[in-house]
Amino acid sequence: MGENARELIQALAQGKRLSTAEYLHILNEANDQDRELARDLANRMRIAQYGDGIFIRGLVEFTNFCKNDCFYCGIRRSNQDAVRYRLTLSQIMECLEQGYAAGFRTLVLQGGEDVFFTDGKMCEIVTSIKLRHPDVAVTLSLGERSYGSYRRLREAGADRYLLRHETAAEWHYAKLHPPVQQLATRLECLRNLKALGYQVGCGMMVGSPYQTAECLAADLSFIQEFRPQMVGLGPFIPHHSTPFAKQPPGSVETTLLLLSLVRLTLPKVLLPATTALATLHPKGRLMGILAGANVIMPNLSPVSQRNHYSLYDNKANSGAEAAEGLAILSRELETIHCHIVIGRGDAPNPLISN
Ligand code: SAM
Repeated sequence: MGENARELIQALAQGKRLSTAEYLHILNEANDQDRELARDLANRMRIAQYGDGIFIRGLVEFTNFCKNDCFYCGIRRSNQDAVRYRLTLSQIMECLEQGYAAGFRTLVLQGGEDVFFTDGKMCEIVTSIKLRHPDVAVTLSLGERSYGSYRRLREAGADRYLLRHETAAEWHYAKLHPPVQQLATRLECLRNLKALGYQVGCGMMVGSPYQTAECLAADLSFIQEFRPQMVGLGPFIPHHSTPFAKQPPGSVETTLLLLSLVRLTLPKVLLPATTALATLHPKGRLMGILAGANVIMPNLSPVSQRNHYSLYDNKANSGAEAAEGLAILSRELETIHCHIVIGRGDAPNPLISN
């Protein structure tokens, strides 16, 4: 390869598209200074696009029932130890009211793939939220559903949809999921969501079992091609009741590099500093922002249920991770000269021209 990692990072920051091999070169060859350069350029890119404002999303984890059996996930079907719960419509509306009063203008409804929540039930939830607070953006994260289902939810008013692709390498997807779950299905869902006009988020875990640098390079290439409006990426963290209980967590450093490369690849992208990053490092949120992230998703779920949405061990859900801890988050952000934006927090227009 003619160029070194530093030159490739600089080229990316200047708007050049990279090949999978070039992404791989960065991932394999970047030294500490190169990583610092990536963070610095990505942070500048965030500021150029969004200034000092950080968007907040109120996360409501409304069910931990799941029909899937992803090997990495603590709420997988086979985990008999999980204490299962579902929120009622009125509990969800309470979360909305609390969040609205605190300044949230995006509600993220996330859950396992719970067949109880039929299209009819989900549409009722989305419609109720929109009727009560039309200025609130609704993001759904419900996993794989049919085109027709996504269409009904969109027509009911859902604005955005988060569905991580998890890994762009088919062999790796098969290491993380049982055979009934296929990468092709997931990618079709993502394409359907985009076609229906959702603002779409894909993404992956960093350091998931069996992941190689080639997998991450393929992920970056996929993101470059697919041009999602949002990218959710955080470190893998093991859960004690899953087949991956004994696997090591992903690296904070590599997660930060990935955040920076995603920001440089898609300058306008909405990029959360994830709870998983904050779980692995006390300063994870701020480090994520300084590496290019511009979104934080505090937990708005009822405090009594929070511990049950246990995707991985020691998942952070209090202090600055909690909606009621917004003042703490705000003070944390001030230390890096950022502030919370009260608003829907859409990407700048034209959104698609990332
Ligand atoms: N069921 C929906 C779906 O599949 O998109 C949403 C819920 S799912 C639990 C949300 C995300 O949690 C997954 O996309 C996955 O990347 C992440 N996740 C699950 N287990 C994890 C773990 N052990 N460490 C880090 N992230 C994890």
